[in-house]
Amino acid sequence: MSVSEFNIIEQFFVRKEGDRRDVVLGIGDDCALLNVPSDQCLAVSMDTLNEGIHFLSGTAPADIAHKAIAVNLSDLAAMGAEPAWVSLSLSMPTAELGWLQSFSDTFHELLHHYGLQVIGGDTTRGPLAITLQVHGFVPEGVALKRSGAKAGDLVCVTGTLGDAALGLLIAEHRLAAQGEVRDHLLTRYYRPEPRVAAGIALRVGASAAIDVSDGLVADLGHICKASEVGAVINADDIPLSEAATSVTTHERALDCALTGGDDYELCFTVSEDNYRKVQSALESVGVACYAVGRISGKSGVRILKDGEPLELNKSGFDHFAS
Ligand code: ADP
Ligand code: MG
Repeated sequence: MSVSEFNIIEQFFVRKEGDRRDVVLGIGDDCALLNVPSDQCLAVSMDTLNEGIHFLSGTAPADIAHKAIAVNLSDLAAMGAEPAWVSLSLSMPTAELGWLQSFSDTFHELLHHYGLQVIGGDTTRGPLAITLQVHGFVPEGVALKRSGAKAGDLVCVTGTLGDAALGLLIAEHRLAAQGEVRDHLLTRYYRPEPRVAAGIALRVGASAAIDVSDGLVADLGHICKASEVGAVINADDIPLSEAATSVTTHERALDCALTGGDDYELCFTVSEDNYRKVQSALESVGVACYAVGRISGKSGVRILKDGEPLELNKSGFDHFAS
C-alpha cells in the first residue's frame, strides 16, 4: 500500500495531546513558532543515526527511536539544559507502516516521558537515517560548558562505563553472554538512559561537563582541550558493572570503559569544595557519582594503573580517522 508523505506526518507524528504552552504553532505550517522564557538560554543540539553506522541493520524500530531520543537528550543533559522541543528528520527507503507505527509509538512515549514536544521535521526517501534536533532551556550563565575545568578539580562520572561497548560486541556475536548479564549489557547498548536529571542537578557546582559517547578518554580529552588543562585518570577507580566484569576479563572491561562508546553517562569536573554539594544533588535524583581522577596543569589525558602509566590502543570513536 502506498502512503503519501503528508499521510505519514499526519498519522504518525502529529499528536494533539501533550502540547506545551511555549509552542505557539507546532507541526503543519512552514515553520514552528516558539517562545523561549525570557531569563533562559535556548540550548540546541542535533544528532543523526545512520543505518549501518550508528545502529546495526535490522535494529528494531522501537530501539532506533529510543536511541535517537537518548543520544540527543544526552547532549542537553551534558549542558545542564531542560528538554523542551524536538524536530525530526526521517529518511527511509520505503514507507513501511508497521515500522513507522512501532518507531512512532516509542518516539511519542519517550517524548511524553521527558516532557518534550515534536514541533516539526522533514520526511524524505533515502537510506534509513534519523536526525533529531533537540531544544532545551538553561538559565543564563549556568550552562555546563566543556571549558570550565581547572587544575585540581576532580574528574567524575555518573555511572558504570563500558557496558554499552560490551553490549555492542554481544549484538555483533563477537562476545558470548547469557541471561541477565546479556540483557543488561544489550539494554545499555540499545536503550541508553540520558542523564537529564543529573545534568540539571550538576548546575549547583560542576565546573565542566560532557556526555560520554565516544569513550571516557576521548570525551574527557575534549574537556581538557577546551579548558586548556590535562587530566590523570586512575584506572582502578573506573566504575565497572558486575555484568561487565563477569562477561569478560577485567582488562577488556576496562578497555571498553576507557575507549568504548555509547555509554551516555556524564563526565564532569568539580572543585573539591563543591564536590559534596554536587554529590548530594546527584543523590537526590538517584544518580551515583564516582571520582575517577583529577585535572592537572599538563595537557592530555593520562591513565595510571597500579601507579604505572597505561597505554591504550585507541582513544575513542572518530568517524573519519583512518
Ligand atoms: P515544507 O515543504 O514547507 O518544508 P513539509 O511538507 O516538509 O513542509 O512539512 C510539513 C509540516 O510537517 C511542517 O510543519 C514540518 O515541520 C512537519 N513535518 C514533516 N516531517 C515531519 C516529521 N517526520 N515529524 C514531524 N513533523 C514533520
Ligand atoms: Mg520540508
